[in-house]
Amino acid sequence: MDQKTAHRDEITRFLAQKLNISHIRDYCPNGLQVEGQIHISAIVTGVTASLAMVEAAIDAGADALFVHHGYFWRDEDPCLTGPKHARIKRLLAHDINLYAYHLPLDMHEDIGNNAMLAKKLGFLSRGRFGENDIGWLGITENPAISTTGKLATLIENRLGRKPLLIGDPEQPVDMVGWCTGAAQGMLAEAASAGAGVYLSGEISERTVHEAREYGIAYLACGHHATERYGIEALGELLARQFGIRHQFIEIDNPA
Ligand SMILES: [Zn+2]
Repeated sequence: MDQKTAHRDEITRFLAQKLNISHIRDYCPNGLQVEGQIHISAIVTGVTASLAMVEAAIDAGADALFVHHGYFWRDEDPCLTGPKHARIKRLLAHDINLYAYHLPLDMHEDIGNNAMLAKKLGFLSRGRFGENDIGWLGITENPAISTTGKLATLIENRLGRKPLLIGDPEQPVDMVGWCTGAAQGMLAEAASAGAGVYLSGEISERTVHEAREYGIAYLACGHHATERYGIEALGELLARQFGIRHQFIEIDNPA
C-alpha cells in the first residue's frame, strides 16, 4: 500500500465522530491535546503519554502520537512544570501532535478497551452495567474455561501478566463482568448485575473485603495490561482509513 498523508483536521473530525466524543462526559479533554504539524503520514499509539512514550514516538519518526491516557486531567495542577513541562516541550520541539481518548475509547463498541479485551480473552457480550453502561457482562466462548483458576491462567497467557485472583480458584465461571483500567470500584455493581466473577485492572485494599462480602470473585489484571488494545485498534483503524503508517509501542508498566 502506498503511504499517504492525512490532514490533521480530517483525523480530528473522523475520530470525534467515530468515538462520539461530544456526547461523553469525561475528566480530561478528548481529541487533539497538543497541536503539531498539519500533515500526518506516520502515527504511533501507546497507552500513556509518558516521557518514555514521547521519546519513542520521536525515535519512530511519528507525526502524531495517540494515547489512552493524555494530559490536562481535571483537578490537576494546570502549570507546565516538572515532568509535564518536559513531556510537552519534547512534543512541541518535534512538532508532534498528541491525541488522547479516555472514556470514549473505553466505551466504544468495536475498538474500545472493553470490546478489545473481550476479543483478546474470548468473551461473548451478554449485557452492560454501571454508569453509562461502561461495564460489560458476558460468558467465555471456550467451555474449557470452567473455573476462575482456569480463567486466571487464560488471562496470564493472553495478556502476558499474571493476574491477582481474589476468591476460590475452583469456583465455576458463569457470568463474567469486566471493565478495564481502575474500575475496581464497580465491583458491587458487577455483582448486582449478576456476574460471578469480575475483572478490572487495579485493586484497592477494600476490593478484597468487598469481593468476599458480595460473594464475587475478583481478578486484578493490570491497568496497563487491560488498556493496551483499544488504542492499538484505533491506530489500525486510522491506518486503514487514511493509508498512513501505524506502529503501536509498548512501554512496560507492571501496574
Ligand atoms: Zn486507564
